Amino acid sequence: MSKSQVKPRKISATSTPQVISRHPASLLSVNDLSLDDVGSILRTASTLESEDALKRMKHLFKRRVSLLFYESSTRTRTSFELAAKQLGADTVLVSALSSSIEKGESLKDTGITLRALGAECIILRHPASGAPYLLSQVTGLPILNAGDGMHEHPSQALLDLRTILTHLHGPKAAPVSETTLKGVTITICGDIFHSRVARSNMLLLPRLGARVLLSGPQPLLPETAASAGPGIEIERDFDKALQQSQVVMMLRIQAERLAGLNLDLDEYKLRYQANTTRMAAQAGDALVLHPGPIIRGLEITSEVADGPQSAIAEQVRNGVAIRMALLVRALTSKSSSNAASKGKRK
Ligand code: ASP
Repeated sequence: MSKSQVKPRKISATSTPQVISRHPASLLSVNDLSLDDVGSILRTASTLESEDALKRMKHLFKRRVSLLFYESSTRTRTSFELAAKQLGADTVLVSALSSSIEKGESLKDTGITLRALGAECIILRHPASGAPYLLSQVTGLPILNAGDGMHEHPSQALLDLRTILTHLHGPKAAPVSETTLKGVTITICGDIFHSRVARSNMLLLPRLGARVLLSGPQPLLPETAASAGPGIEIERDFDKALQQSQVVMMLRIQAERLAGLNLDLDEYKLRYQANTTRMAAQAGDALVLHPGPIIRGLEITSEVADGPQSAIAEQVRNGVAIRMALLVRALTSKSSSNAASKGKRK
């Protein structure tokens, strides 16, 4: 056939990916969850954690979960993977450095490819805020946001909440309501501006009645407390914030997102470091949290990170239980199978 005989290929309506509505069991932001949903996730996490390992394997036996990571991760990636495996699912990891993403393949095409390969749920970490929304629209699959740029890290906020509640109310999770954290002050200290962990916690904790204080150098804080949302206050003086707090969440300075901002690190340590002298003087009983990775000797000293007030290792363990609950929710909610097959039909 000569060139002129080649008929232009008819482009059907399905040649370009259609916009599919967001899967209802996706978790893109903590605001996707009602307080009832939060309570149900916490209860499911406890049930799954205490279940016999073989019984647990049946929940998602042979279901296919993809982990799509465009940014490095230790805790989040490993705990999502362990959570999926403990539920019997098959997992596949696609990371930016060892896939066609390196050759320039777009997020949209990567998502469509994973779906064509049978992925039933995608866990996404991406440097661009909002990336999980795009992936959700183009695949129609349940998407779990494992951290998107400076936007959100919802599973981290849920595991932080589980850690806080266990310490305040004991291992039997208290029912989640607008007053569950009434009378509790939680300070978040450090690089609030770049932190998706801070953002998800700032959206979630006040809904349960917590008072949230933000502390840190001015360029790393929101301009006003009002702009940070309801239930949020700013207290630049970390010592004063600590004196009022039952919980303190320390944050890493996000060097990869500072974009030229120069901080005097000696000054930073003097004012904002969680060290034994400061903790003993201002908040000897407060629970110390950190999402990791911790930079020992900068925002927190080893003595505090490894000391009796620290719940950092517990946060990591809670990550597995919470992520098991999120995966079960994503893959067994009534609409899961419909949306997945709708996606495949395209
Ligand atoms: N691991 C957390 C995140 O991915 C916190 C951090 O990187 O400092 O957002």
